[in-house]
Amino acid sequence: MIKKLNSNLINQIAAGEVVDDPSSILKELVENSIDAKSKFIEVILSNGGISNIIVIDDGIGIPKDELADAFERFATSKIKDIEDLNNINTLGYRGEALPSIASISDVIVKSKYSQETGNTIKFSFGKKVFIKPSDIENGTYIEVKNIFHNVPARKKFLKSESYEYKKILSLFKNFALSNPSIGFRLINNEKKIYNFKSSSLKDRIHSIFGTKTSESIIPIQFKKDEYLISGYTGNLSLVKNNRNYQYLFINGRTIKNQLVNISINNAYRNLIDRSEHPFYVLSLTLPPDLVDINVHPKKKEVKFRNEMQIQHIFRKSVSDALKDIFKTIPSFKNFDSIKDVTLGTLPFDNTFVKDDSVLSISNSGGNKYDQNIKNAEIRLKNTENNNVVIDSNNIWQIHNKYIITEITSGLIIIDQHVAHERILYELSKKSLEGDGISSQKILFPKTIKFDPEEYIHLLEIFNYLQKIGFEFREFGENTIIIEGTPSNLPSDEEENIIREILDHYAKTKNTSSTFIEYMASTYACKAAIKAGDKLSQIECKELVDQLFSTEYPYYCPHGRPIIVNLTLSDLDDRFERH
Ligand code: ADP
Ligand code: MG
Repeated sequence: MIKKLNSNLINQIAAGEVVDDPSSILKELVENSIDAKSKFIEVILSNGGISNIIVIDDGIGIPKDELADAFERFATSKIKDIEDLNNINTLGYRGEALPSIASISDVIVKSKYSQETGNTIKFSFGKKVFIKPSDIENGTYIEVKNIFHNVPARKKFLKSESYEYKKILSLFKNFALSNPSIGFRLINNEKKIYNFKSSSLKDRIHSIFGTKTSESIIPIQFKKDEYLISGYTGNLSLVKNNRNYQYLFINGRTIKNQLVNISINNAYRNLIDRSEHPFYVLSLTLPPDLVDINVHPKKKEVKFRNEMQIQHIFRKSVSDALKDIFKTIPSFKNFDSIKDVTLGTLPFDNTFVKDDSVLSISNSGGNKYDQNIKNAEIRLKNTENNNVVIDSNNIWQIHNKYIITEITSGLIIIDQHVAHERILYELSKKSLEGDGISSQKILFPKTIKFDPEEYIHLLEIFNYLQKIGFEFREFGENTIIIEGTPSNLPSDEEENIIREILDHYAKTKNTSSTFIEYMASTYACKAAIKAGDKLSQIECKELVDQLFSTEYPYYCPHGRPIIVNLTLSDLDDRFERH
């Protein structure tokens, strides 16, 4: 016999579509708070959200006579007719979240709208329990308890508390990054986890990821037709071995999109390894009718009307931003632009035009910016084309720090320390992936004593230290004696490098490919010749040759420039020789 399902059961079935774990419940609630124009949103969890989720906002609130309706399926204040579906400016629009959540939990909503007095409504597993006045002062308070208690099968599907909590943390970070102007606080088991004040995106990135990240990001503002891309992309010191540091938002929604990922990665091609992934936080804003987010109730997937165009603008905006990385390579640049600024009165003592002037010009946008990019490209090409023709007679070390050499198109200046660092980094990365770095015996073995915890860590990474060329054995309690060190390493650096690697390991407990890279770069930095080391002409020549046989001769593993290029045409311009 065919029977019509009652609405509560329908809601329970539908709930599976919209909410299947605590983080999807939280997602719906926070989206509602954002849609309600909240300035501050607080999330309070118990046990990582498995048993209890509270969201408190200071948004517009729900009028009393809509409070019960908000729990009706397909009841929404956000769209009215089919036309509106093509023009969605809010995160929610299906009117499914509250009824779905209420059908599988106990929900209390307190809300105050405008001049009305506040109200509380309670639902228990799909049934309204009461509605009564409340003393809430503004905004909306929603508490969700006993999640999935009436659907044990679904409760069983929840993974461990820490797994569900991790999903919530990741969701929360996404909200915080896509809405930096909203303040957010997260509390779990009465502990404050995050507390973000309303801020700029850059400051929000700083609060979430720390100083190293916020200092290593390049701003992006790119407008084409009706598309606007804005946000930040990481420079080469922020390259990761996984995709967890890639944030993409479209009209305020967190989106995963394979095509966009590929386009952004393409912009980094030749700069990073295939296995590496750049950091980015990027938002695309476009007219709602050019994107269809209605693919799935969870709204994570999008369909663009014009995919090719989207791919193109992502690649273009990121590669334009990355040209700033190239611009730090040659720095005697663009006298046309400088002259524009100074009206031809370039002071004579200002021999070298520093990078910051170039950056400030590029920030001012317009033609000069385009011109700068073009120049950077030309210079880069010149440097690339000329890297082979180096005459060992025309090579000089100055101030025991820089090496100058003539090339066909002009001259280049090389920072000897970072150049050597790049050479050793690539060599050691290769050896670490293979047999390891060769070891040299030391004449007077050294002992190092560790504290007991450090010593345990040391034993855990013993093999790795051997691989970079250390030879040592146990020598008394928590003590080792070093008998061999990586080749090239100055004799006073052994302990420093071991301790640095150990500290890093203690922090990350990670021995994956990033650890290998970390070891390679630590070794390279410690073993490289220093500023102040005197080099013979032959040594200079050797260094330059080796540098140009590396894969990436233009910047060091930390992203600092290695080569500055001064072309003949730069010189001609400078001497006003036209
Ligand atoms: P949707 O967001 O798709 O409209 P929901 O079921 O999530 O559907 O919410 C139903 C309605 O309840 C919303 O359209 C909105 O009017 C109201 N509402 C829900 N949460 C809030 C909130 N935090 N502040 C103000 N109004 C809210
Ligand atoms: Mg909603």
